[in-house]
Amino acid sequence: MASKMASCIFCKIIKGDIPCFKLYESEKTLAFLDINPLSRGHALVIPKFHGAKLTDIPDEQLSEILPIAKKLVTATGAVEYNILQNNGRGAHQEVDHVHFHMIPKPNAEEGLGVGWPQQ
Ligand code: ADP
Repeated sequence: MASKMASCIFCKIIKGDIPCFKLYESEKTLAFLDINPLSRGHALVIPKFHGAKLTDIPDEQLSEILPIAKKLVTATGAVEYNILQNNGRGAHQEVDHVHFHMIPKPNAEEGLGVGWPQQ
């Protein structure tokens, strides 16, 4: 486990060894902008506890994830959005540290209301 954490890109972000555009941080949760966004405001919400798949994470380490994803959606002003969480290569998971994508859909007429600046 220790060696996987040492090489984990999201653990490095949590430690501050790799920079990110931080949106929220608490003792057990971090949210930041995706480096390759599918839309403006595309964010990742992650438990600080290292685990590759959802089933590897203790329940108490997950308790803030969806409430924070909700807050981020609200902050973007998006009325349509995806919350996605992939587990395993066959399910399109590339980074082996549990993360929830929050992907706002731009409003066809107005675009996103409030949002975050592009990186
Ligand atoms: P997929 O790439 O198929 O979406 P994942 O669900 O594992 O696979 O998503 C990993 C996400 O992590 C990608 O959206 C990628 O852009 C993002 N990502 C990778 N490295 C960084 C980084 N250093 N900072 C922010 N986001 C990152």
